[in-house]
Amino acid sequence: MTSLVRSTRSLLLLELLNGMRLTLVEMFKKPSTVNYPYEKSPLSPRFRGEHALRRYANGEERCIACKLCEAICPALAITIEAEPRSDGSRRTTRYDIDMTKCIYCGLCQEACPVDAIVEGPNYEFATETHEELLYDKQKLLDNGDRWEAAIAANLAADAPYR
Ligand code: SF4
Ligand code: SF4
Repeated sequence: MTSLVRSTRSLLLLELLNGMRLTLVEMFKKPSTVNYPYEKSPLSPRFRGEHALRRYANGEERCIACKLCEAICPALAITIEAEPRSDGSRRTTRYDIDMTKCIYCGLCQEACPVDAIVEGPNYEFATETHEELLYDKQKLLDNGDRWEAAIAANLAADAPYR
Protein backbone atom coordinates (compact mmCIF):
# COMPACT_ATOMS: atom_id res chain seq x y z
CA MET A 1 0.00 0.00 0.00
CA THR A 2 1.45 3.34 -1.01
CA SER A 3 1.92 6.05 1.54
CA LEU A 4 -0.60 8.21 -0.34
CA VAL A 5 -3.35 5.60 0.00
CA ARG A 6 -2.45 5.06 3.65
CA SER A 7 -2.61 8.77 4.36
CA THR A 8 -5.95 9.13 2.57
CA ARG A 9 -7.44 6.25 4.57
CA SER A 10 -6.17 7.79 7.80
CA LEU A 11 -7.57 11.19 6.94
CA LEU A 12 -10.99 9.75 6.12
CA LEU A 13 -10.94 7.64 9.31
CA LEU A 14 -11.84 4.56 7.24
CA GLU A 15 -10.50 2.02 9.77
CA LEU A 16 -12.51 3.68 12.53
CA LEU A 17 -15.69 3.73 10.44
CA ASN A 18 -15.14 0.10 9.44
CA GLY A 19 -14.79 -0.88 13.09
CA MET A 20 -17.98 0.97 14.02
CA ARG A 21 -19.83 -0.71 11.15
CA LEU A 22 -18.70 -4.12 12.38
CA THR A 23 -19.80 -3.30 15.93
CA LEU A 24 -23.22 -2.23 14.66
CA VAL A 25 -23.64 -5.43 12.65
CA GLU A 26 -22.65 -7.62 15.64
CA MET A 27 -25.06 -5.78 17.96
CA PHE A 28 -28.04 -7.13 16.04
CA LYS A 29 -26.79 -10.71 15.74
CA LYS A 30 -27.93 -13.48 18.07
CA PRO A 31 -25.28 -13.81 20.83
CA SER A 32 -23.20 -16.97 20.58
CA THR A 33 -22.40 -16.98 24.31
CA VAL A 34 -24.51 -18.84 26.88
CA ASN A 35 -25.40 -17.49 30.29
CA TYR A 36 -23.81 -20.34 32.28
CA PRO A 37 -24.81 -21.74 34.78
CA TYR A 38 -28.40 -20.71 33.95
CA GLU A 39 -28.00 -21.85 30.34
CA LYS A 40 -25.96 -24.82 29.18
CA SER A 41 -24.65 -25.92 25.80
CA PRO A 42 -25.79 -29.27 24.40
CA LEU A 43 -23.48 -32.22 25.14
CA SER A 44 -22.46 -35.08 22.90
CA PRO A 45 -23.66 -38.55 24.03
CA ARG A 46 -19.93 -39.41 24.01
CA PHE A 47 -19.04 -36.68 26.48
CA ARG A 48 -16.64 -38.05 29.08
CA GLY A 49 -17.52 -36.52 32.43
CA GLU A 50 -17.68 -37.72 36.01
CA HIS A 51 -17.46 -41.47 36.53
CA ALA A 52 -20.31 -43.63 37.74
CA LEU A 53 -20.86 -47.29 38.54
CA ARG A 54 -24.14 -48.58 37.17
CA ARG A 55 -26.65 -51.12 38.48
CA TYR A 56 -29.11 -53.40 36.71
CA ALA A 57 -32.80 -52.56 36.92
CA ASN A 58 -33.19 -54.96 39.87
CA GLY A 59 -30.61 -52.98 41.85
CA GLU A 60 -27.77 -55.48 41.47
CA GLU A 61 -24.34 -54.04 40.72
CA ARG A 62 -23.26 -54.55 37.13
CA CYS A 63 -19.57 -54.76 37.99
CA ILE A 64 -18.24 -58.34 38.06
CA ALA A 65 -14.80 -57.38 39.37
CA CYS A 66 -12.95 -58.52 36.27
CA LYS A 67 -10.47 -55.66 36.80
CA LEU A 68 -10.14 -54.90 33.09
CA CYS A 69 -10.73 -51.20 33.79
CA GLU A 70 -8.01 -51.21 36.43
CA ALA A 71 -5.59 -52.94 34.06
CA ILE A 72 -6.21 -50.61 31.13
CA CYS A 73 -6.18 -47.31 33.02
CA PRO A 74 -3.08 -45.48 31.78
CA ALA A 75 -3.09 -43.15 34.78
CA LEU A 76 -3.28 -45.96 37.37
CA ALA A 77 -6.23 -44.11 38.84
CA ILE A 78 -8.40 -47.15 39.58
CA THR A 79 -7.93 -49.49 42.56
CA ILE A 80 -10.08 -52.58 42.90
CA GLU A 81 -10.25 -55.31 45.50
CA ALA A 82 -12.63 -58.22 45.13
CA GLU A 83 -13.78 -61.45 46.71
CA PRO A 84 -16.51 -63.99 46.01
CA ARG A 85 -19.89 -63.62 47.69
CA SER A 86 -21.60 -66.44 49.52
CA ASP A 87 -23.60 -67.19 46.33
CA GLY A 88 -20.33 -67.65 44.40
CA SER A 89 -20.61 -64.44 42.38
CA ARG A 90 -17.55 -62.23 42.26
CA ARG A 91 -17.97 -58.62 43.38
CA THR A 92 -15.74 -55.74 44.33
CA THR A 93 -15.16 -54.98 47.98
CA ARG A 94 -13.31 -51.83 47.04
CA TYR A 95 -13.55 -49.69 43.92
CA ASP A 96 -11.67 -46.40 44.13
CA ILE A 97 -10.91 -43.82 41.48
CA ASP A 98 -8.49 -41.00 42.12
CA MET A 99 -10.17 -38.35 40.02
CA THR A 100 -7.11 -36.13 40.27
CA LYS A 101 -5.06 -38.75 38.41
CA CYS A 102 -7.73 -39.49 35.81
CA ILE A 103 -7.15 -38.06 32.34
CA TYR A 104 -10.71 -38.78 31.15
CA CYS A 105 -9.51 -40.99 28.31
CA GLY A 106 -12.58 -43.23 28.52
CA LEU A 107 -10.57 -46.48 28.28
CA CYS A 108 -12.12 -47.88 31.47
CA GLN A 109 -15.57 -47.50 29.94
CA GLU A 110 -14.43 -49.04 26.66
CA ALA A 111 -12.87 -52.02 28.44
CA CYS A 112 -15.83 -52.84 30.67
CA PRO A 113 -17.71 -55.89 29.35
CA VAL A 114 -20.92 -55.09 31.24
CA ASP A 115 -21.16 -51.27 30.90
CA ALA A 116 -20.63 -50.92 34.65
CA ILE A 117 -18.07 -48.13 34.84
CA VAL A 118 -19.03 -45.21 32.63
CA GLU A 119 -18.18 -41.58 32.26
CA GLY A 120 -21.45 -39.75 32.64
CA PRO A 121 -22.62 -36.33 31.50
CA ASN A 122 -21.85 -34.51 34.75
CA TYR A 123 -19.04 -31.98 34.53
CA GLU A 124 -19.99 -29.93 37.57
CA PHE A 125 -18.04 -31.74 40.26
CA ALA A 126 -15.30 -29.28 41.14
CA THR A 127 -14.25 -29.43 44.79
CA GLU A 128 -12.25 -27.35 47.21
CA THR A 129 -10.10 -30.20 48.49
CA HIS A 130 -8.11 -33.06 47.00
CA GLU A 131 -9.77 -35.59 49.30
CA GLU A 132 -13.21 -34.91 47.85
CA LEU A 133 -11.95 -36.14 44.49
CA LEU A 134 -10.85 -39.52 45.85
CA TYR A 135 -14.00 -41.45 44.93
CA ASP A 136 -14.90 -44.71 46.60
CA LYS A 137 -17.35 -47.38 45.51
CA GLN A 138 -20.31 -45.85 47.33
CA LYS A 139 -19.74 -42.46 45.73
CA LEU A 140 -19.50 -44.07 42.28
CA LEU A 141 -22.65 -46.15 42.84
CA ASP A 142 -24.48 -43.03 44.05
CA ASN A 143 -23.39 -41.27 40.85
CA GLY A 144 -24.74 -44.19 38.86
CA ASP A 145 -28.09 -44.04 40.62
CA ARG A 146 -28.29 -40.29 40.14
CA TRP A 147 -27.36 -40.20 36.46
CA GLU A 148 -28.70 -43.56 35.23
CA ALA A 149 -31.42 -42.13 32.99
CA ALA A 150 -29.03 -39.77 31.20
CA ILE A 151 -26.27 -42.40 30.98
CA ALA A 152 -28.62 -45.03 29.55
CA ALA A 153 -29.94 -42.54 26.97
CA ASN A 154 -26.38 -41.59 25.93
CA LEU A 155 -25.30 -45.23 25.60
CA ALA A 156 -28.39 -45.98 23.50
CA ALA A 157 -27.72 -42.96 21.26
CA ASP A 158 -24.11 -44.07 20.73
CA ALA A 159 -24.84 -47.80 20.34
CA PRO A 160 -25.26 -47.75 16.50
CA TYR A 161 -21.70 -46.43 16.13
CA ARG A 162 -19.91 -48.83 18.46
S1 SF4 B 1 -10.97 -42.32 32.08
FE1 SF4 B 1 -8.93 -43.15 31.59
S2 SF4 B 1 -7.58 -42.27 33.15
FE2 SF4 B 1 -9.66 -42.02 33.91
S3 SF4 B 1 -10.05 -43.79 35.19
FE3 SF4 B 1 -10.79 -44.30 33.12
S4 SF4 B 1 -9.07 -45.33 32.10
FE4 SF4 B 1 -8.25 -44.26 33.94
S1 SF4 C 1 -16.15 -51.88 36.14
FE1 SF4 C 1 -16.30 -53.28 34.40
S2 SF4 C 1 -14.18 -53.57 33.70
FE2 SF4 C 1 -14.09 -52.70 35.78
S3 SF4 C 1 -13.93 -54.47 37.14
FE3 SF4 C 1 -16.11 -53.95 36.98
S4 SF4 C 1 -16.86 -55.25 35.30
FE4 SF4 C 1 -14.62 -55.24 35.12
